[in-house]
Amino acid sequence: MSFPEYANIIIDISHEKVDKPFQYRIPERLRGKVDIGTCVEVPFGRGNTRRKGYIIELTNDPDFDESRIKDILAASDEIASAEDISLKLAAWMKRHYGSTMIAALRTVLPSVKKMKKPVRKFVSLKIPVREATEEYYEAVRKKQKAKERVLKELLDTDGDRIPYELLTQKLQVASATLKSMSDKGLIRIESEEYFRKPVAGDGIRYGDKVLSAAQQHIVDTVSRDYDEGKRDTYLIHGITGSGKTEVYIALIDDCIKRGKQAIVLIPEIALTYQTLMRFYRHFGDRVSVMNSSLSPGEKYDQIERARTGDIDIIIGPRSALFTPFQNTGIIIIDEEHETTYKSEQSPKYHARETAIELARLLPDGAAVILGSATPSLESYYRALKGEYHLFELTERLTGGCLPSVEIADLRQELRNGNRSIFSERLRELISDRLSKNEQTMLFINRRGLAGFVSCRSCGEVFKCPHCDVSLSEHRGGRLVCHYCGHEEAKPRICPKCSSKYVSSFRAGTQQIEDEVKKIWPQARVLRMDADTTRTKGSYDRILSSFAGKEADVLVGTQMIVKGHDFPDVTLVGVLAADMSLYASDFRASERTFQLLTQAAGRAGRGSREGNVVIQSYQPDHYSIQTASRQDYRAFYDEEIAYRDLLRYPPISHMLCVQLQSRDEAEGMAFAARLRAVMEQQRVPKAVFIGPAMASIGRINDIYRMAVYVKLDDYEGLVALKDITEKYIKELEEMGKLRNIAVQFDFDPITSYS
Ligand code: ADP
Ligand code: ZN
Ligand code: ZN
Repeated sequence: MSFPEYANIIIDISHEKVDKPFQYRIPERLRGKVDIGTCVEVPFGRGNTRRKGYIIELTNDPDFDESRIKDILAASDEIASAEDISLKLAAWMKRHYGSTMIAALRTVLPSVKKMKKPVRKFVSLKIPVREATEEYYEAVRKKQKAKERVLKELLDTDGDRIPYELLTQKLQVASATLKSMSDKGLIRIESEEYFRKPVAGDGIRYGDKVLSAAQQHIVDTVSRDYDEGKRDTYLIHGITGSGKTEVYIALIDDCIKRGKQAIVLIPEIALTYQTLMRFYRHFGDRVSVMNSSLSPGEKYDQIERARTGDIDIIIGPRSALFTPFQNTGIIIIDEEHETTYKSEQSPKYHARETAIELARLLPDGAAVILGSATPSLESYYRALKGEYHLFELTERLTGGCLPSVEIADLRQELRNGNRSIFSERLRELISDRLSKNEQTMLFINRRGLAGFVSCRSCGEVFKCPHCDVSLSEHRGGRLVCHYCGHEEAKPRICPKCSSKYVSSFRAGTQQIEDEVKKIWPQARVLRMDADTTRTKGSYDRILSSFAGKEADVLVGTQMIVKGHDFPDVTLVGVLAADMSLYASDFRASERTFQLLTQAAGRAGRGSREGNVVIQSYQPDHYSIQTASRQDYRAFYDEEIAYRDLLRYPPISHMLCVQLQSRDEAEGMAFAARLRAVMEQQRVPKAVFIGPAMASIGRINDIYRMAVYVKLDDYEGLVALKDITEKYIKELEEMGKLRNIAVQFDFDPITSYS
């Protein structure tokens, strides 16, 4: 067996610039003993100073003249360092998701510039109180007003130091005065570095709850497994309000008692402010947040706090997974089904899988906890197979009744001559709530609104005969499949019922708001969508004004169905629930079920009973039926059967090779070539689809197209990716591939658009 001769090495990963690797020769004695991630010592620069570096790639092809390549001096057999693990994780991501090593490294290493710590100044007395009192009376006599104020303040505090700013700002003492007093030896001015803290807790302490038996069972099981050296992945399936967050807190307590740290991933900070505060109330200063809205200084400080042990818990979106704790013991992913856990940039990693891999790489391992009211098909499937440990929490601990859910058949409404966007039933209930001074939420499902076409009389949706995803309307009346490229003319009349109401459905939040104001002029309406939440703080403003009962009706997109509790909402209306069903995406039903379940869960949080009306053109669709009954298992069983039939994830795996090209024909031709290259491998049972244009076929004059491969075996897909990558690299090196960029997406979460 022959081992690679050369290694590409990154010198001294400083977190501000992970850039170019340098190539070294691996001396005979080290061949086969070093790997990606190994820390080595190399001669660097003209003076050949001994420097530490990390191997990021192994190869047999020297990048330049062999005689100029220096030898690696030594490989370190140090115990695993945090950076070691980051490198191994990056190498795994590169292979598992397809990206360059540099892109993977940039993802796992917190890339922040080193920032100076901010400094606070304090002033205290340098002389005994008796002397200071004398100085004070002298200042009074001599009418030295500023000096008098400083001494009075310091004497009042009984020897405590006071913030410098308090004197200069509130007491308006000039810096020069303070300096001269300090020069005379009357006072002491000290400076102190501190960490920036992005979120201030509200200081309220959180009383510990006595866990229910079901909650305690989870904590005990995870803790016992840990003691026995078992590091598992656990899925907590629990309806909203069933106490998942409380369980997370108890699990973290247990983890901290073992001297370890915790990473908590949440979909988006803005949506979960209330949850965040519960952590702050329980853990105080030992917890912090990490997200994209932090300033560079704040970011740097949170990383430093984690590194130095100033905090034990970090909460943040998927990138918080890469927080450099010394000893992570638990990783929690709340709302694990959310799409934000998948990166849209290369490497297109999923935080769930990456967390599991990270837990495996940690020297002492870590427990991974997934939680959701509507688990992803992926996680539930693995849990049922026994790969994850499944817990079910079925009771609401807050009291509050589950709402009664009705489905309004929009086809019937049309037959009855009702062309408005409100069904009779919803209109009746809104009037009723307005008269009782109770609140209503109207939710429009805009996800996947890429112009699917349906018959408004019978609900027939036009689908691709090859892919079972809905066709999208393109200009010129063509219906196009975004998976395989199938095209057909848009029919004038419905082939099923001959109605001429064949159209793509487009209703926006603005239109709903106008309609509400027209029908109920007395109603106070708030609207929340991408338009009204553009400015900073507008999101919180709208929610708190609705919570403060400054409006009767809140109209919004999916933003309004998450996170917040409104005890006075007793009616939730879902207009056109089908919208997301027809997204040109095999996950459309799953997304619809999740959204509807969440939306329905918004009603009846308080003591009064709530109503939910789901309006739909396809009231019999299983994701609408099961969501109305809040029956996850029934949904799962139907959906997994569909995935099985069409070999979609999680039953099978799928690789999407995404291309971007300046020239449409050239891009399509190259996509076809990539498909051919992969097909030549003759992988048994691999199914190829495409090339097809992406749902948005052109952005900024760049055309976008894709080829899909379905295969049961993930590693088989990785091998196909590797071959494609190699083929592309060779072309690039020959200068034959200029205008085309290729990326990989494994088990896509959203359709390539
Ligand atoms: P989830 O995260 O599943 O939505 P939470 O943990 O937020 O559920 O719990 C919902 C509500 O129930 C919260 O108000 C919480 O304080 C309360 N709660 C949770 N566990 C308990 C318990 N063991 N005893 C009493 N109240 C609890
Ligand atoms: Zn029809
Ligand atoms: Zn198709």
